[in-house]
Amino acid sequence: TLSDRLSGIFTKLRGKGRLTDADIDATAREIRMALLEADVALPVVKSFVAALKERARGAEVSQALNPAQQIIKIVHEELIGILGGESRRLQFAKQPPTVIMLAGLQGSGKTTLAGKLARWLKAQGHQPLLVACDLQRPNAVNQLQVLGKRVDVEVFAPQPGNGVGDPVSVARESIEHAKRTMRDIVIVDTAGRLGIDTEMMAQAAAIRDAVNPDEVIFVIDAMVGQDAVATAEAFRDGVGISGVVLSKLDGDARGGAALSVRHVTGQPILFASTGEKMEDFDVFHPDRMASRILGMGDVLTLIEQAEAAFDDQQKEKMTSKLLGGEQFTLEDFLEQLTAIRRMGPIANMLSMMPGMGQMKDQLAELDDKHFDRVAAIIRSMTPAERANSKLINGSRRLRIANGAGVTVMDVNQLLNRFVDAQKMMKQMGGAMGLPGGRRKAT
Ligand code: GDP
Ligand code: MG
Repeated sequence: TLSDRLSGIFTKLRGKGRLTDADIDATAREIRMALLEADVALPVVKSFVAALKERARGAEVSQALNPAQQIIKIVHEELIGILGGESRRLQFAKQPPTVIMLAGLQGSGKTTLAGKLARWLKAQGHQPLLVACDLQRPNAVNQLQVLGKRVDVEVFAPQPGNGVGDPVSVARESIEHAKRTMRDIVIVDTAGRLGIDTEMMAQAAAIRDAVNPDEVIFVIDAMVGQDAVATAEAFRDGVGISGVVLSKLDGDARGGAALSVRHVTGQPILFASTGEKMEDFDVFHPDRMASRILGMGDVLTLIEQAEAAFDDQQKEKMTSKLLGGEQFTLEDFLEQLTAIRRMGPIANMLSMMPGMGQMKDQLAELDDKHFDRVAAIIRSMTPAERANSKLINGSRRLRIANGAGVTVMDVNQLLNRFVDAQKMMKQMGGAMGLPGGRRKAT
C-alpha cells in the first residue's frame, strides 16, 4: 500500500545526519513513484513532488527534527493540503428546506450514504426527508425504504401502481411535500450507471434543475483507481458538484481517489463513509486522513513534541540572552527568523518571540521568499562575521553576495535591517533596566 511504500522510503532516511540535494532528489523520486502506483492523478503528483523538494531544500529545515522526521512532516503537511486543509461543513439554505442531491456511479454508495446522512442529520435535530429518484434499478426504491425505516426517516417515493414514475417529477414533488410536512432537509438519491453515460448525466442535470440543490454531493468509491479522475471530471462538468463524499474507505483503498478528487473537482471532501452500517460515517478530516495514509500516527506525535520542546528551548535561550545583555548577533537573527518561519505566518508568531514584537516593522515585509534570501546571505558569512557584523567591509560584502547569489545591495539592506534590530534589542534591555543592556558596544 501507499503507507507501506512511504514508510519504506522514510526508513532509508533514518540515521542520515544531513540531507544533500541528491538525497532529497532520490527521496522525491521514490515518493513520486509511490504516488503514481497508488493511482494518484499526475498533476497532483507533480505539484506534490515540487512542493516537497522546495520545502526540503528550503530554509525552513528544522533543527528540532532529524532529516527523516523533517521529510515526514513535510509529506504529512502536503498531504493535508491536497486533501483540502480544513474540513468544510454542509451548506444550509437560508429558507428551508435545504436540498442535498447525491450523484455518482452505480454502486458508489449513494443510497447507503442517503441513509447515513439522514441518520446523522436527524441526530443533530434536523427533520430530513429521503427522496427516491433512482427509478432505474428495480430494487432501488425498496433499498432506500429499508434504510429509511432503519434510521426512522420518511422516504418520498413514486406511488405504486402509477407505472414507473419520472424521477424529475418525483424530485420536484418531494420539495412540495417537504414544505407541507415541515421537513428542513431533503436528501435526493439518484440513479447511476456502471459507466458514465450521457443519458444518466442528462437525467441528473434535470433533477438538479427541478430541485435547485444547496449541495450536489458527488459520491466516489475510494477503491477505484485511475478511473476516479475521468469520473469526477464527468460529474463536475455534467451536473456540477459542490462537495465530495468518499465511500468504502474501510476497504483496501490505495489512496489514489482520495488524493486526486479534491484537485480534479476543485471541491472539498465533506464526509467519509467507512462501512455498510449506518453508523460507519463521519465528517471528513483531512489531517486524520493524511495521518492514515502515512500510517504513522506515533511518529507524527513525536515530531510535534520534538518541535514544541525545541521551540521552548529556543525561547528560553533567547530570553536569557536578552536578560544577560549579551550581544544580539546575526547568528541569533537567523535563528529567530528560522524559528518564526517554521512556526507559521510571520505576523501571528511575532508575539511569541521575546523581543520580536518590537521588530514588527522590520519583519512585516519579510515574506517567505524574502526570508530565503536573508537566510542564504547570513549562511554565506563566516562564523566570525556572524558574531560581529562590524567586520563586514566592502570586499567581504561582495564575497557574501556572490556566495548567496544576491547583489551587494541585498547584503547592505540586510545589514542595515540587522543593525536596526540590534539597536532595538539594546534599547529593550535598557528599558527593562537590565544590566549590560548597553554593555558591549561593538
Ligand atoms: P449506489 O448504487 O451508489 O446507491 O450504491 P449503494 O449505496 O447501493 O452501495 C453499493 C454497495 O456498497 C452496497 O452493497 C453497500 O452496502 C456497499 N457500501 C456502501 N458504502 C459502503 C462503505 O462505506 N463501505 C463498505 N464496505 N461498503 C459500502
Ligand atoms: Mg442507489
